[in-house]
Amino acid sequence: MPTDEDRDHLADQLAALPVRELVDVLRRVLPRYTESSYGIRTVLVLAAATQYENEPGLDLELVAWPDRDYYNGGLGPDQGLWEDGHCARCDTDVTSNAKRGYCPICGSRCTLT
Ligand SMILES: [Zn+2]
Repeated sequence: MPTDEDRDHLADQLAALPVRELVDVLRRVLPRYTESSYGIRTVLVLAAATQYENEPGLDLELVAWPDRDYYNGGLGPDQGLWEDGHCARCDTDVTSNAKRGYCPICGSRCTLT
């Protein structure tokens, strides 16, 4: 069982990554926590929540996994989560550093702008 120091070390390593690399690492981990039973499927995802001053509520977008094939094995542009899109299959908004990605829920290809 990892110690608090082990987890702190891992957190420090993750915090040092640019966002596109952090997303790629989490793409390899979060789907492993998917649970399905009795017709219910729960997927652990990364999301971006945006709040606006003086406005109630927030905008919630799921972080799409970059389409590495589209980027010839790369992770897409080294920028923040500036691209926005929508997964038509899940009817949910997605965001990414990349213009081509995969919905973290259903795996559909998403085009972001
Ligand atoms: Zn989807």
